[in-house]
Amino acid sequence: EKEELKKLIHEEAVTLDGRKVDIWGNIGSPNDVDAVIESGATGIGLYRTEFLFMNSDHFPTEEEQYQAYRVVAEKMQGKPVTIRTMDIGGDKELPYLDLPKEMNPFLGYRAIRISLENKDMFKTQLRAILRASQYGQIKIMYPMISSINEIRKANAILEECKKELDEIGKIYDRNIKVGIMVETPSTAIVAYKFAKEVDFFSIGTNDLTQYFLAVDRGNELVSSLYNSFNPAVLEAIQKVIDAAHHAGISVSMCGEFAGDKRATRLLLGMGLDSFSMSASSGLTVKKIIRNSNYVDAQKYRDLILKQDTPEDVIEKLK
Ligand code: PEP
Ligand code: MG
Repeated sequence: EKEELKKLIHEEAVTLDGRKVDIWGNIGSPNDVDAVIESGATGIGLYRTEFLFMNSDHFPTEEEQYQAYRVVAEKMQGKPVTIRTMDIGGDKELPYLDLPKEMNPFLGYRAIRISLENKDMFKTQLRAILRASQYGQIKIMYPMISSINEIRKANAILEECKKELDEIGKIYDRNIKVGIMVETPSTAIVAYKFAKEVDFFSIGTNDLTQYFLAVDRGNELVSSLYNSFNPAVLEAIQKVIDAAHHAGISVSMCGEFAGDKRATRLLLGMGLDSFSMSASSGLTVKKIIRNSNYVDAQKYRDLILKQDTPEDVIEKLK
């Protein structure tokens, strides 16, 4: 079975009737890139940069960050590398950043909210990403976006960084693409508005599920309620994909759901453009896609979206 899968490494993720999608990898550090390449993935859909910050005893300098991002870009040889700006807070702490204890950390000071309040820190990261962008196809992605204002503020800071690099004659990709994680209800529900502000979406189903269902993703007491097959989550995902396509931008998914083989045909039928997951799932998902029919997957999606409970959804997906 493993040998069978390996034969697919250099094959495209294309359905029997010709719909092509991307299978991308998720990484937490440059060390993870080799596994992604070996899995046959054609890009990196999520580079969780916070691990660079968490595995250090000081705030990584622009130079340190630049080196890390550059290595990833170079190893991927021109294939897309989606670098997510740091997603600290929630359950992720930084020893050298004194974050206050909070009653509801997942609803609190987290990710882009921290970046926008700590402009120097954010600019250091953005400059490092920009400088690395000359070595490949880097895209910038903001985490935990819940309002349009956050995108505009972040982009204004990005423009400042570009200007500063221009002034000192540093080179970067002038057409660098900027996108957002869609992982909060406030973004998903009016995704068509957000789509006008960015170049791409990536659906973060881990948080989207948590926030849509009001179920803490790490709390065992409610883990039976945490289910991305919940019809509310599925309808949100469909809305986000449709909004992206209506605005002419691409949409990927980088939450765990993208690598769940029970969901592959459904997501395909929903029109998802890119599936980003841990390297270990890539070939299995590719195999399912290659054995699927896009037109059939679309019909089957209509049936799935009519179901009322997660159990019904999973049953029908079999
Ligand atoms: C997500 O929320 O689905 C996601 C990919 O981000 P993280 O798991 O890092 O919060
Ligand atoms: Mg998330």
